[in-house]
Amino acid sequence: MKKVRLILILSLLIAIFSCTKHEITLVTIGTGGVTGVYYPTGGAISRMVNKQFSKYGIKATVESTAGSVYNINSVLSGDLDFGIAQSDRQYQAVKGLSEWAEIGPQDKLRSVFSIHPEAITLIVADKSGISRISDLIGKRVNLGNPGSGQLQNSRDVLGAFGVNEDMLKAEYVKAIEAPGLVQDERIDAFFYTVGHPNENIKEATSGRVKVHIVPIEGAPIDSLLEALPYYDKAVIPHVYYELSTNIADVPTIGVKATLITSEDVSDDIVYAFTKEVFDNFDEFKTIHPAYDTLTKESMLKGLSAPIHPGALKYYKEAGLIEHIKPSLIQ
Ligand code: GLU
Repeated sequence: MKKVRLILILSLLIAIFSCTKHEITLVTIGTGGVTGVYYPTGGAISRMVNKQFSKYGIKATVESTAGSVYNINSVLSGDLDFGIAQSDRQYQAVKGLSEWAEIGPQDKLRSVFSIHPEAITLIVADKSGISRISDLIGKRVNLGNPGSGQLQNSRDVLGAFGVNEDMLKAEYVKAIEAPGLVQDERIDAFFYTVGHPNENIKEATSGRVKVHIVPIEGAPIDSLLEALPYYDKAVIPHVYYELSTNIADVPTIGVKATLITSEDVSDDIVYAFTKEVFDNFDEFKTIHPAYDTLTKESMLKGLSAPIHPGALKYYKEAGLIEHIKPSLIQ
């Protein structure tokens, strides 16, 4: 009898041990406003990893956040495991510029891969009479919320044309609120750095107040492109927004969305995320039209923080390492 009881206790202990071995690892990805592209992107990535729960034991969830700067800071503090952040903001955090100028270079930041292109998008009400950047002077303009990627982009664009923030009636609200404010005639214009197409600009263009996207180009922008290495030329296809009054594609400048993490996140977790997105790349690409131009190689460009070792392990296995800038490999 004693023997039987001992066997029972032993099997119970083994069962408990194997349960804890498969315990759930909760992983959170910081995104942006729900009408942007970061939010569905976080959803797409987490679904791909969650599908393989039996393999990794990872349960990934998505959080709607204030945007790039918030995500970088939350990943660094350990409040988020991953975040989506603009490539320019990743560069600035690594170098200790812009919002990080006072605290210095953020050495714990790691990159995983880059995702879709994002364009600096300036939406204006037609009746505001704004057709170029200098027309924004004296107008009610949303530059972006603190914590967002776009706030610094708006400032850079205005600065390139010698326009100071005090020369306008600047607002600093989240992008999700801006389309409603334009339609309620409470603002004349707003900036949003975002992938296209997206629900936010669709909402802004489909109301009673007629709106259009203003080109961001000219000699001041050429100088900006020369001075700041993280900006590139971009074009917003007007077919995405049939209700805007644009009749042609809109030239502008842009950056890239990137997936970031911290050196404190385990190699196994980062490996799982990288592997599931890259091994299922064809499926991933179909999830959002903003991913149309993606290739595996393009997803390894536009990064500034060292590649996380978990991601690097996958890139080595998949023969993709040659597409990575050597300075990002530690
Ligand atoms: N680029 C924006 C930001 O960093 C977010 C865009 C999006 O949510 O798609 O705040």
